[in-house]
Amino acid sequence: MKHLLSQLHKFQKNLRAGAVLLLDYDGTIVPIARRPELALLPDDTRKLLKALIGKFKLVIISGRALSSVKHLVRLRGIYYVGNHGFEINGPNVNIIKSEAKCTRPIISDICEKLREKVGKMKGVVLEDKGLTASVHYRLVERNKVGGFKKIFWSVVNPYVVSGKVRITEGKKVFEIRPNLNWDKGKAALWIMDVIDPKKKLIPVYVGDDQTDEDAFSALRDRGITVVVSARPRRSQAKFFLRDVDEVKAFLSKMAQMRD
Ligand SMILES: [Mg+2]
Repeated sequence: MKHLLSQLHKFQKNLRAGAVLLLDYDGTIVPIARRPELALLPDDTRKLLKALIGKFKLVIISGRALSSVKHLVRLRGIYYVGNHGFEINGPNVNIIKSEAKCTRPIISDICEKLREKVGKMKGVVLEDKGLTASVHYRLVERNKVGGFKKIFWSVVNPYVVSGKVRITEGKKVFEIRPNLNWDKGKAALWIMDVIDPKKKLIPVYVGDDQTDEDAFSALRDRGITVVVSARPRRSQAKFFLRDVDEVKAFLSKMAQMRD
């Protein structure tokens, strides 16, 4: 896996011709915060994104609820993909995957049970995002994490076994999603078809988490896939950037590319 900034010159000509930037939010354009509501988009990053609008197509793709990511980014003329791909919104696009709506009562049922069992545990942050849910344990004391996980699995396991939901573990967070053949990868391909039906633009996907791996696989042969990671790690992405600052450096270079 190669460092993107050292390889960028190779793609300069193609990128200049046009690209779609697909950016994850937490851990990619904003450092991961202690609590999800604290991960605000800094003004300079918003400015940077704004400078990219008009030069490239821009997609923010997140596990957060669509309303949350839109509220945090607050930019018009770009595409937003929320809830791991189940909600998509942008110029002339506004969809909620209907299959996922069917699982909503189950997600809320699970959230209720989790609230009962681990809701009072110090440091657990439960996010019912409608179509999916996140259970953060970043703030749980280290010696309590094992106990927390045990209870978590005892609650969700029946729903996993019956095929209703699937669970992925990210950075100190469990993601609970409908067990459907849809993820950030499928959503990324879908939005690429909407934005660029003739397949003339290069997709550039940047993300840091386990759920971004689906997108790295989906776009691997077609675009530039970039994992945000302090060191090269096992990933489907072809390139890496070390942290949010390097992502911003990359985005600045992109903005200058079409000046
Ligand atoms: Mg992320």
